[in-house]
Amino acid sequence: MRYHDTVHSESYPQSYYAATANQHSNYPRLAGNKTVDICIVGGGFTGVAAALELAERNYQVCLLEAHKIGWGASGRNGGQLIRGIGHGTEPFRPIIGQAGIDAIWQMGTEGVEIIKQRVSKYQIDCDLKWGYFDAATKPRHLRQLADYYQESIKHGYSAPLQWIGKADLKSVINTNCYLGGLVDIGSGHLHPLNLCLGEAKAAHQLGVEIYEKSPVTAIEPGVKPTVKTPYGQIQAKSVVVGCNAYLGQLLPQLAGKVLPAGSYIIASEPLPASLAQQLLPQDMAVSDQRVALDYFRLSADKRLLFGGLCHYSGQHPHNIIQALRPNMLKVFPQLSEVSIDYQWGGYIGIGANRMPQLGTLDQNIYYAQAYSGHGLNATHMMGRLIAEAISGQLERFDVFAKIKHITFPGGPLLRSPILALGMLYYRFKDCF
Ligand SMILES: Cc1cc2nc3c(=O)[nH]c(=O)nc-3n(C[C@H](O)[C@H](O)[C@H](O)COP(=O)(O)OP(=O)(O)OC[C@H]3O[C@@H](n4cnc5c(N)ncnc54)[C@H](O)[C@@H]3O)c2cc1C
Repeated sequence: MRYHDTVHSESYPQSYYAATANQHSNYPRLAGNKTVDICIVGGGFTGVAAALELAERNYQVCLLEAHKIGWGASGRNGGQLIRGIGHGTEPFRPIIGQAGIDAIWQMGTEGVEIIKQRVSKYQIDCDLKWGYFDAATKPRHLRQLADYYQESIKHGYSAPLQWIGKADLKSVINTNCYLGGLVDIGSGHLHPLNLCLGEAKAAHQLGVEIYEKSPVTAIEPGVKPTVKTPYGQIQAKSVVVGCNAYLGQLLPQLAGKVLPAGSYIIASEPLPASLAQQLLPQDMAVSDQRVALDYFRLSADKRLLFGGLCHYSGQHPHNIIQALRPNMLKVFPQLSEVSIDYQWGGYIGIGANRMPQLGTLDQNIYYAQAYSGHGLNATHMMGRLIAEAISGQLERFDVFAKIKHITFPGGPLLRSPILALGMLYYRFKDCF
């Protein structure tokens, strides 16, 4: 079966998440002209988290989403809520210093905490569970995880981290693929579309005006920028752009810094309880350490949700099940007779240095993007930092805003093929 991103822009692409969404958003299309304090573009976690933070601070907020709330990566991802922001802070020491590095470590935990508090405060039913296993397939990965463990302790990470050696592996995961790894009880997993819809509902109840099916066609800068859609426009004191890998050419100066890379997930049929328990006895989310990594977890109804196969070419695989199932069977040969009920994919926004990009254009157009596949907690943290900056607190915002990000070479047409070539090199390195 050929995978299509979506049949119609006003519905979700088929996925396990869309099939099990516990509410269906039906916000109107923007029509006519409006004036508000803040206009947010993009209804994924970045936009919705910023909207909620701003509404909690009593701003008058309006959010425009081209398709549906959570239609992009936020409603399709692996649901792995993993602490940490970026993929290493040391390269940024000359720019942000020790204080900046400490702040990013602290915010890597705060992002998870924001979600935990939101789920509890707004009673969001999104199957949140704690427990995550970072798995090593090579001795080199074990060393990297050992360094990460030491750094985490140094930065006062309080949630229990536990080393798992080969001998104890089966207490976490029943496979022969890994050498060991690190358990983190302060990270976990959840149903991302239900989280996003629940947060949007909470924001709406706090007064945020949400418009779906309202693609922004232009943002005209100015003292009060104007945000245009086909049927209406909004003038605001500030604009927030959270379109990430789906930005297209709306703001070419941002688009060149974030490359869409496809990532894909299959969901098995519900597994018998005994089999689910045998595969992942503690129901933890799992990722390995490779560049083209496998990531997987059990859903609330005990399906195995198995993701991976990062594609940098901009082309979706012809058949996701055919492409991903062999990877799943390498980890869990026990599933050879199990059928696959869902397949889907989405675009991750990759940045060259793998640190989220946060900043402003023309002083009052804020943006956050390029989470490089690790965005669940980071989007929430960036939403908070944007709200802080709009409220005049720039200290934490500036930690990220100081970091420079290069534009990928090749222009809109050649960027993806060039990156695909570069990634081949890293995949080759992963073989050793
Ligand atoms: C398959 C997959 C698996 C992943 N797994 C994980 C995981 O397990 N853990 C993790 O931490 N991260 C994961 N990620 C990454 C994570 O999902 C993203 O970092 C995060 O969702 C980004 O959120 P966002 O709001 O910035 O972007 P998105 O969720 O992509 O939202 C952008 C929104 O902007 C809208 N938009 C675009 N242009 C316009 C316009 N002109 N006008 C109006 N609206 C517009 C789009 O329709 C879209 O809804 C995964 C990503 C993918 C694709």
